[in-house]
Amino acid sequence: MPFTANKNFKASPRLLKAAKGMYYTTIDDRQVLDGCAGLWCVNAGHGRDEITQALIEQLNVLDYAPGFQMGHPVAFEAARAVAEFMPDTINKIFFTNSGSEAVDTALKIALAYHRANGEPTRSRLIGRERGYHGVGFGGISVGGISSNRKTFSNTLLPQVDHLPHTHDLEHNAYSKGQPAWGVHLADELENIIALHDASTIAAVIVEPIAGSTGVLIPPRGYLERLREITQRHGILLIFDEVITGFGRLGTATASEYFGITPDILTLAKGLSNAAVPVGAVAVHDHIYNTIVNNAAGGIELFHGYTYSGHPLSAAAVKATLAMYKNEHIFENAKALSGVFEQAAHGLKGFPHVVDIRNLGLVAGIELKSRAGAPGARAAEVFQKCYDQGVLLRYTGDIIAISPPLIINQEQIRHIFNVLGNVLKQVD
Ligand code: PMP
Repeated sequence: MPFTANKNFKASPRLLKAAKGMYYTTIDDRQVLDGCAGLWCVNAGHGRDEITQALIEQLNVLDYAPGFQMGHPVAFEAARAVAEFMPDTINKIFFTNSGSEAVDTALKIALAYHRANGEPTRSRLIGRERGYHGVGFGGISVGGISSNRKTFSNTLLPQVDHLPHTHDLEHNAYSKGQPAWGVHLADELENIIALHDASTIAAVIVEPIAGSTGVLIPPRGYLERLREITQRHGILLIFDEVITGFGRLGTATASEYFGITPDILTLAKGLSNAAVPVGAVAVHDHIYNTIVNNAAGGIELFHGYTYSGHPLSAAAVKATLAMYKNEHIFENAKALSGVFEQAAHGLKGFPHVVDIRNLGLVAGIELKSRAGAPGARAAEVFQKCYDQGVLLRYTGDIIAISPPLIINQEQIRHIFNVLGNVLKQVD
């Protein structure tokens, strides 16, 4: 099972058998409020008829078409729909089946760009400590999670460096929105450039908000500085927006929220409301044009998946993005972000809590670890919340909250009330 202790799961399985709107139904018929949008992905809520209908119709018309040297109109329509949500200069879309594939594809596109641009020595990749970029070899190499890397440490990509992470409790605990301290952490990029020379560096990849390692909000000015340094040195900046894409911050992308245009974005999760597995890489027009106009052979990028632009995922993407627009779902997230912030920070002073951080409709509540048992306290909090009808996530001793964006005020308060009560119940 994925990221699961198989033996433990057998002993006490958590099984979900149905979902609608904001709620899961468990195998024993309990209703559980989805406080995490599945895995940060069901942004418009569960069981959406618009997607179901689009999938049925698509299956009846065209179940599959090869993507190599062929195409079908729905994939192009889906690509255009995605581009509409991207920053102005980012209009070229490559479909994958997951976020991990989107990341590895984005890294390959970065390398292909520099080759096409006459700078083949630019091959070094820079990620960040505590970065999560999926589980492909590219993703775990630029990622900064030791548990995901150590078993494979002899076979990771060479020539990868990591920026420092931005997690800091000493200066930034209980920040609301972007923390004030830490812009200088971006300057480590200058040191890496000084060490290796810009002519060897292809790209920097970061999540605008690091999600999976505990909701780390970028310090004020930090992403701007990364953009400025990368631009000055001809290095591509990749934003991994697999979590932040499609409304989590009340905007289409984090790039829009922060007012920073990267060169490449990776997308997945909310792209199809998680109804079918699909990811995408969105690239700047200049990158596309350089690769397409300057590659030597006929095929410009020797890369692709049997299911790239699959008719079902394309139909789901189109239906999902139309729903986001028609139902003003990002606007709902934006309108509720104040209530969400207030409810999250209402847990300040509760037992075990050492930090609360938030932006848009995502928050991290960090707990003090039990001596000698990191993660145990949050695991217990997670289980008790689940037993009391609220599904959250935990990483180490950090609880993450990222509900579907269709949530209402009452449901927001309910999530944090249950979490608050549970915090009083655990040692
Ligand atoms: N990048 C980021 C930022 C993610 O959060 C995730 C998934 N949590 C991925 C990549 C990988 O996506 P997937 O699990 O669809 O491969």
